[in-house]
Amino acid sequence: MSGMGAIGVSYDSAMRSTQSARVSKRVGSIAESATLAVDAKAKAMKAAGEDVIGFGAGEPDFPTPEHIVEAAAAATRDAKNHKYTATNGLPELREAVAEKTRRDSGLDCQAANVLITNGAKQAVYNSFAALLDPGDEVLMPAPYWVTYPEAIQLAGGVPVPVPTDESTGFQATIEALEAATTERTKVLLFVSPSNPTGAVYPPGAVTAIGQWAAENNLWVVTDEIYEHLVYGDARFTSLPGLVPELAERSIIVNGVAKTFAMTGWRVGWMIGPKDVIGAATNLQSHATSNVANVCQKAALAAVSGPLDCVAEMRSAFDRRRRRMHELLSAMPGVTCAEPEGAFYAFPSFEKALGGDLGDTTLDLAANVLERAKVAIVPGEAFGAPGYARLSYALGDAQLDEGLDRVARLLAGGG
Ligand code: PMP
Repeated sequence: MSGMGAIGVSYDSAMRSTQSARVSKRVGSIAESATLAVDAKAKAMKAAGEDVIGFGAGEPDFPTPEHIVEAAAAATRDAKNHKYTATNGLPELREAVAEKTRRDSGLDCQAANVLITNGAKQAVYNSFAALLDPGDEVLMPAPYWVTYPEAIQLAGGVPVPVPTDESTGFQATIEALEAATTERTKVLLFVSPSNPTGAVYPPGAVTAIGQWAAENNLWVVTDEIYEHLVYGDARFTSLPGLVPELAERSIIVNGVAKTFAMTGWRVGWMIGPKDVIGAATNLQSHATSNVANVCQKAALAAVSGPLDCVAEMRSAFDRRRRRMHELLSAMPGVTCAEPEGAFYAFPSFEKALGGDLGDTTLDLAANVLERAKVAIVPGEAFGAPGYARLSYALGDAQLDEGLDRVARLLAGGG
């Protein structure tokens, strides 16, 4: 029995009496992150003793490399790090991020162009909040990462999905971008390698899209968080790096989460022209202030250190990528474009729908979780019904076992 009864009011009764006005329309309209929801459900089932295999999470299964953890451990003992620091980030980290961006993206930038954020996710929020006025439209190639439309709408903007499919390797064409452009279009959102499709645009396409954006006076927000996770012949190139005339109208979003297996440390950054970075810093100064100093020191060790640890993780992801593509392609009713970057496969389950696994991939994902104890994220979350996203950032044996369960379920023997 709860003590609430004696007072006669509970959170529940208060909620019932004034339901409509309690949560603002703006925040009430935000959808729960479908990827985190799938992951949470799988983790809850696991905690309850069920043998669940999760393809839902967007994070490396490796621990953070030791030299990075050591740098953080040392930083905890330095009293300087126990205090507030500048909102825009530790100067040495901003300098290292600028240097790393000159090296990897080929963009001529300085520490003054860098704002350190709580994960790349906050960089996405800051970017749209700093650029958009109500009604401004953002071209958003679909399938898209779940957070983008929410961040755009929270900023008062209008996400305009630009459809892509397997026929173009899930890459937006200039024609499709052109068709979605109106006089309200302000920003092109560009992501390569892509979450959820794993598509990597070749350099020629990146240049062409960048030049098109420049000719149309658009801003570009480009998310480079999977830059180091490309496989086979695919090569990462940075849009503002290839089209320098866009530098004054572009923002790069990036962070340490995926490259260095540091999702839990929450360090990202945005890089852009000084006026936009200044505005975003003011916003962040009232929201979260500086990113935890110890985490910034860990990020400094990551971005200024060697990339060998990344190469090792990448080769494991590459092996799993090929294995997953092979196993998915062999399943009845499933087709799968070969992913070239990030750590996701994005197969179509369209031909497997309509039977007892359901009519939509939302139903299918629920059935796969219930009956095969395997978590996959339905394509509806990414604006792509009929598809599902499976992360291959998990152990090889688990990958085999999980896909075997899905195959057996699809074959009717699950
Ligand atoms: N961008 C993309 C494309 C992502 O997939 C993610 C993580 N799922 C992020 C940004 C956010 O990364 P962080 O953990 O640094 O906030």
